[in-house]
Amino acid sequence: MSTHYVILYYHYTKLEDLEGFRDEHLQACLHKNLLGRIYVAHEGINGTLSGLKEDVTDYMEELKNDSRFHGIVFKIDEADGHAFKKMHVRVKKELVNLSLEDDINPKEITGKYVEPQDFFTQMQDSNTIVIDARNDYEHAIGHFRGAIKPDIRNFRDLPNWIRANKKQLEGKKILTYCTGGIRCEKLSGWLKREGFDDVGQLKGGIVTYGKDAVAQGQLWDGQCYVFDQRLKVPINRVEHIIVGRDHFDGTPCERQLNCANPECNKQILASIENEDKHLGGCTLACSLHPRNRYVIQHELSPEEVKRRLQLLQS
Ligand SMILES: [Zn+2]
Repeated sequence: MSTHYVILYYHYTKLEDLEGFRDEHLQACLHKNLLGRIYVAHEGINGTLSGLKEDVTDYMEELKNDSRFHGIVFKIDEADGHAFKKMHVRVKKELVNLSLEDDINPKEITGKYVEPQDFFTQMQDSNTIVIDARNDYEHAIGHFRGAIKPDIRNFRDLPNWIRANKKQLEGKKILTYCTGGIRCEKLSGWLKREGFDDVGQLKGGIVTYGKDAVAQGQLWDGQCYVFDQRLKVPINRVEHIIVGRDHFDGTPCERQLNCANPECNKQILASIENEDKHLGGCTLACSLHPRNRYVIQHELSPEEVKRRLQLLQS
């Protein structure tokens, strides 16, 4: 039996005195030996934590009993240990950065909540467009089959992309999805405000979809990227199709790593063989970086580094 829980949650609610809330909340988490990261903003809270089951249960009960978090939903995974190394509570301007001129309050306008089993049915309709509201590196290791991944670097660039691609979305049913649901609250609300009327969002996000008894994670290809030490979790319980591709040779791959150049840090997928060959660098410039982390961690001699670089450049 697993000893720990890893939880993911958010709640849009009005919070005052953010610094005071942060300090108190951090102390409460440390007291319960929880690890993870929590963001707080005037518009609410967003967190992911790990801890012993009883400690996490206490934490969830406390939040549920706090009137400010009435109706909060936790997504719970079992685990054999912590999924984080540290505990952070940070104050942010917005929980999700859409950088909108006129921000969205999901409590006022948001897309229809679509239950996993309905999402499964609706996404197979030819008049439906499914939009992935996550980042490139999250999409790369897994996504819904046929989903559109807007060609943008940051979530905050999405509104511009949607305005530029309005034609292909008009008259369609639009479904949005993200890991736990928080990004879709704003994105779907924003789409409605832009004039699209048939907009739905996957209730509970991908992680909930994977647990649904009817949907069983079907039509999800690859794995779901998560922001903790597990790096990814399986979603589709019926079949596993690898969609991730090795950064260097394009072969199917689900092994995640960060570029060894500390100034680049780009998240890529690569086999151990290719990581070794490229000294962990995503480009030749990154492989050559004087503070290359791969070289330091593997304690490579200058001769060995030179030998591998010569092979790369030949
Ligand atoms: Zn790099």
